[in-house]
Amino acid sequence: MPAQFLVKSSLPSSHGLFDVWAFSSAMEQMPHVVMTTKELNLSKPVNLRIHSECMTGDVFGSKRCDCGQQLHNALRYIEEHSGVLIYLRQEGRGIGLVKKLEAYNLQDRGMDTIEANVALGFSPDQRLYDDAIAIALSLGINSVRLISNNPEKIQALEEANIQVVDRIFLPTEMFAENENYIRTKVNRMGHQFS
Ligand SMILES: [Zn+2]
Repeated sequence: MPAQFLVKSSLPSSHGLFDVWAFSSAMEQMPHVVMTTKELNLSKPVNLRIHSECMTGDVFGSKRCDCGQQLHNALRYIEEHSGVLIYLRQEGRGIGLVKKLEAYNLQDRGMDTIEANVALGFSPDQRLYDDAIAIALSLGINSVRLISNNPEKIQALEEANIQVVDRIFLPTEMFAENENYIRTKVNRMGHQFS
């Protein structure tokens, strides 16, 4: 069942005034959330961030990853330049919060983020973008400037005939605690980091 539109409301935030939309996800009580600026010109490429939930990073400011920085940088950019943020409920690259915390424990014993996920019986990245595509299409988006350094998102969009005309890099800060994580994403998952 692809993501279905549920409800839309207005949301003033510290990043400015947005519309907030809920779309159904596999988990009924946890819909995907979409933030759109009031000004949105669909005849031009839309600034788009597809962000997968990372509660520890997004809410609690974890330094193990750079998710929170990516989320808030993207919201700031979108508020300034208009655009859409699709917040997907696939915590921990799709393995869920409990398994993500177990993976952190394995990482503290020397594994990198990919080895830890594999040791727990998952593929390195369990994320799926079908729902993000369904949401983008239902919003009438057919061309984007993608705020991402993840090549898999570009591939998913292009396979759905959503044109990626540009990529926007919003740099995040590297700390001692997230350095290995970011290096693994760059070296083993094809991400770009500047
Ligand atoms: Zn994270």
